[in-house]
Amino acid sequence: MMNLPKRYEVVIVGAGPAGSLLGYYLAKQHIPLLIVEKKRLPRQKICGGGLTKRTLDILPFTIAAVVEDYANRATLSVENLTVFSKTYDQPIAALVMRDRFDHFLIQQALDKGIDLLDDTEFIGLHGSPGNMTVETSRGSVRTGLLVGADGIHSRVASCLKLDVKKKRMTAIEAEVYLKQPDQSMAPFRHTIQFDMGPARNGYGWIFPKKNHLSVGILSLSKKPKGMREDLTAYIKARKLDSQMEALSLKGHGIPYGPDRQNRYANQFGLLLGDATGIVDPITGEGIYYAVRGAQIASDAITAHLVDNKPSVHRYDAMLKQDLLPEVYYAQRLAHILYKFERLSHRALKKGGAKIAENHVKIITGQKTYRQLHREVFSMAGLRTILGLK
Ligand SMILES: Cc1cc2nc3c(=O)[nH]c(=O)nc-3n(C[C@H](O)[C@H](O)[C@H](O)COP(=O)(O)OP(=O)(O)OC[C@H]3O[C@@H](n4cnc5c(N)ncnc54)[C@H](O)[C@@H]3O)c2cc1C
Repeated sequence: MMNLPKRYEVVIVGAGPAGSLLGYYLAKQHIPLLIVEKKRLPRQKICGGGLTKRTLDILPFTIAAVVEDYANRATLSVENLTVFSKTYDQPIAALVMRDRFDHFLIQQALDKGIDLLDDTEFIGLHGSPGNMTVETSRGSVRTGLLVGADGIHSRVASCLKLDVKKKRMTAIEAEVYLKQPDQSMAPFRHTIQFDMGPARNGYGWIFPKKNHLSVGILSLSKKPKGMREDLTAYIKARKLDSQMEALSLKGHGIPYGPDRQNRYANQFGLLLGDATGIVDPITGEGIYYAVRGAQIASDAITAHLVDNKPSVHRYDAMLKQDLLPEVYYAQRLAHILYKFERLSHRALKKGGAKIAENHVKIITGQKTYRQLHREVFSMAGLRTILGLK
């Protein structure tokens, strides 16, 4: 395998946000590590590229160099009725293209001294805890710990025998290039737009990029019918089709709803990011959880290697304490929102402004899903849902 060391303390599979950031944090602690990525970098990734303020606030460096637009305005419509539109003093999100953003993250890790093998697929693993051989499409390497940051279909999870049960939602997105972008993009700039109605059991979004729009729909269903048609109809309803120059439509799975019995770490290694299924079930936002997960994993691995006693299992406990309660509360809200659509649309038409305002507080880190859940299930919240006020 090229001219790389034969043994690393840690091998990370996957150079998405989860893997690159963990690499960055560990390299800062001078821990020798290798990241293995099956695609040649920079790689494309279908994604809205919405980075919420709560994500920007916890990133360890500025990503201004790859931001396409900052949004300080959010809108919400329900069946074409605008129920919320608010401009904030500060950005509530940054919009990026994933090929550039992800490449920027891996560059930061490389600058801190990681080794990287792209265009190299992780195949399997054998050996004992602390002394494993990792097989890749370009040879083998020995490691003390293996990290699966390899996304929704994690092969590392099955090799580590971490049987992570999760659900799957589906999203489809179009990169819409408008004619005369200088004028036609103007109404969309600095705004993240959410629409209830274009998607069955989900929502639609329009995010501005430097010279085009990312337009997508998400459905909580595993195999929703007619998503391409629904997205085309959404683009048409927003009158983007007449100005459209080019478009590419692609669908993809997003994990959510991790099972409460899941284990995310053992003596061989741990899982991170989409591989865990820890994703916001209301919006499909996964990058925040990938970044938080990388920070938690870095603390656990550093303790493991510095204390020289097996403490990776702490990672499992820390995830269950820090991140999982939030996604469980969000999941209950997502079920009401998307599975009882007539009820939730009726409630949002009446109380949508307050709920959207609260949701902006969540994505900017001022509120938690636990608090929102408590409010929704209060007497006043239930009356709004049932249309009694
Ligand atoms: C349409 C759509 C829109 C979305 N919009 C947003 C959004 O606006 N904001 C947001 O926060 N989240 C969004 N998400 C979710 C977000 O894309 C993911 O949560 C995020 O990419 C997770 O990061 P990750 O590092 O865990 O995994 P990934 O980014 O999926 O990276 C995993 C990496 O592992 C590599 N890999 C996989 N298998 C192997 C192997 N065997 N060997 C070597 N390498 C391997 C892959 O090539 C990949 O590069 C969206 C998702 C979709 C589908």
